[in-house]
Amino acid sequence: LFVSFEGGDGAGKSTQLRLLGAALEELGREVVLTREPGGTDLGAAIRQVLLHGDHVAPRAEALLFAADRAHHVATVIQPALDRGADVLTDRYLDSSIAYQGVARALHHDDVRDLSLWATQGLLPDLTVLLDVTAAQGRARRGGVHDRLEREDDTFHEAVRQGFLRLAAQDTDRYLVLDAAADPAQLHEAVCRELGARRPD
Ligand code: C5P
Repeated sequence: LFVSFEGGDGAGKSTQLRLLGAALEELGREVVLTREPGGTDLGAAIRQVLLHGDHVAPRAEALLFAADRAHHVATVIQPALDRGADVLTDRYLDSSIAYQGVARALHHDDVRDLSLWATQGLLPDLTVLLDVTAAQGRARRGGVHDRLEREDDTFHEAVRQGFLRLAAQDTDRYLVLDAAADPAQLHEAVCRELGARRPD
């Protein structure tokens, strides 16, 4: 099982990832919790450049996210799936499409193609989109910690719309939830969705 959690900054992705990870472990599953950017040693170095570099040109930014993801899939995600583990990732290729493709106005299809090349076409079984408005996300982040969080509400609203459009185009893969809801209720909704997909 491969699940990605997507949404704007401050949506509560990491909380939901941990809750689902714990629930799957209780069922006796091997669970790998990971994230992008930075799920590998190489990815951690790329994350430093992306978050703390002074200026990164948009196309260079897109390529760095793709490089992080290519290495992440090849060395962490695919090997884990091959041995039968469940993989839960905090962000995956939909983030690139929403942030670089839509909000940075690189072409949506170009960024998708680049990401699919990087991942050799690997897509999650389920993508949970925690939908958060720009204002809610700003309040929940509680301050600016890196270069990318310095972006204004217009940028974050474009990201949000990018995610919502992706979800509308692929309702089979996506579960869209209101990030403002109670974390325990959100977790229940994720479990219900997975239960409906895999009755075992
Ligand atoms: O989710 P996380 O906080 O780890 O993401 C790090 C930063 O990278 C965030 O500020 C997020 O907005 C940004 N990001 C981005 N493009 C992506 C993925 C994340 O700008 N494809």
